[in-house]
Amino acid sequence: MKRVAVLGATGSIGASTLDVIARHPDRFRASVLAAHRNVEALATLCERFRPDLAVIADPACEPELRARLVAAGVATRVLAGPDALVEAAAGGDADIVVAAIVGAAGLASTLAAARAGKRLLLANKEAIVMAGPLLAAALAEGGGDLLPIDSEHNAVFQCLPGGRPDLGRAGVRRIVLTASGGPFRGRTRDELARVTPAMACAHPNWSMGRKISVDSATLMNKGLEVIEAHFLFDAPADAIDVVVHPQSIIHSLVEYVDGSLLAQLGNPDMRTAIAYGLAWPERLDAGVAALDLVRTAQLGFEAPDRATFRCLDLAYDALRAGGTAPTTLNAANEEAVAAFLEGRLAFTAIAEVIESCLADLPAGPVAGLEALLDSDLTARRHAHRIMARRAA
Ligand code: NAD
Ligand code: MG
Repeated sequence: MKRVAVLGATGSIGASTLDVIARHPDRFRASVLAAHRNVEALATLCERFRPDLAVIADPACEPELRARLVAAGVATRVLAGPDALVEAAAGGDADIVVAAIVGAAGLASTLAAARAGKRLLLANKEAIVMAGPLLAAALAEGGGDLLPIDSEHNAVFQCLPGGRPDLGRAGVRRIVLTASGGPFRGRTRDELARVTPAMACAHPNWSMGRKISVDSATLMNKGLEVIEAHFLFDAPADAIDVVVHPQSIIHSLVEYVDGSLLAQLGNPDMRTAIAYGLAWPERLDAGVAALDLVRTAQLGFEAPDRATFRCLDLAYDALRAGGTAPTTLNAANEEAVAAFLEGRLAFTAIAEVIESCLADLPAGPVAGLEALLDSDLTARRHAHRIMARRAA
């Protein structure tokens, strides 16, 4: 029996993870559930899954969660605050940690799980983008496995022998990440200036949290994934390509020097990647319907519109600049997306804010966690200054 900590249990990936776990009560148990501040949703999950530990990241919500669990007769221990997330990730309550918190808020717990040698199922791409070298060091220190849950990286992992080989030795020429193109594929820049958060969050193929939905609409999600692929598979920027594939059936590909192109296909459902990560190297029924190739009929491919969706190239720029540039990119993006979701920033201004941050804040070396958090904070403050100037 493997005990699983689901950090971000109330989110989209959290729900998919708990669905897979519930299908295999003989093999997995949700022993830790953590969330930000949705007490009702977390308490409901605790009633259903009876974890040993529940963590609510916002300390102000702790009394309400405790009261709610006592009233329901649930004996789950309760911890609160950001430090409790770290404790839950590294502590003795779980063998597997699913890092499914959105944004930089997931960094500390992701690093802690890696350092503690847990099997780490990584959905929280912002953590690896902002701190790739530190996560690699933490994994080396802990000696545990990292299984990518992002569908593209999970596909690449499945198409590589042994998952994380030396790319050159394995004869890999390049990694090809597929992108759906998001809800605004084919739109012009002028059309994009007026799109609303609701429009941006209506993804054609995937149902996801709001932040990643906006990232998919700007193509920053693919940009973050390029950087994620660089750190996960030790691939240089030039060996990572992006192709738009609107059906989201091929989740990504690996091209070898002999001309072979290996792809992983399936219905767009995150439970496939999650089940793969939970059971690896075995396979598990994920509850996902088999792909009907005849009904699918057509698989389309096109080049991304880099001129309209500039976030993709901004991410390549940050990757090539190296050091703290990906940290700056991620921080500026998180702030700009939050402002867009709150109606304070135009959709097309997201890329402009990020571009200004990258131009104004020179990349430094990744000297350690403190220096990196400093770059993160500097970039967030700078993004706010830029947005305030634009609003004035
Ligand atoms: P979501 O918004 O649906 O859920 C986010 C979760 O994080 C919630 O449980 C929330 O309580 C928690 N959270 C937010 N802020 C927190 C904080 N400060 N402290 C503690 N917990 C906090 O998001 P999602 O779509 O499930 O995405 C989660 C992560 O997985 C993101 O990094 C995203 O990029 C990645 N991802 C998601 C998908 C998908 O299909 N949804 C696919 C690939 C990767
Ligand atoms: Mg993805």
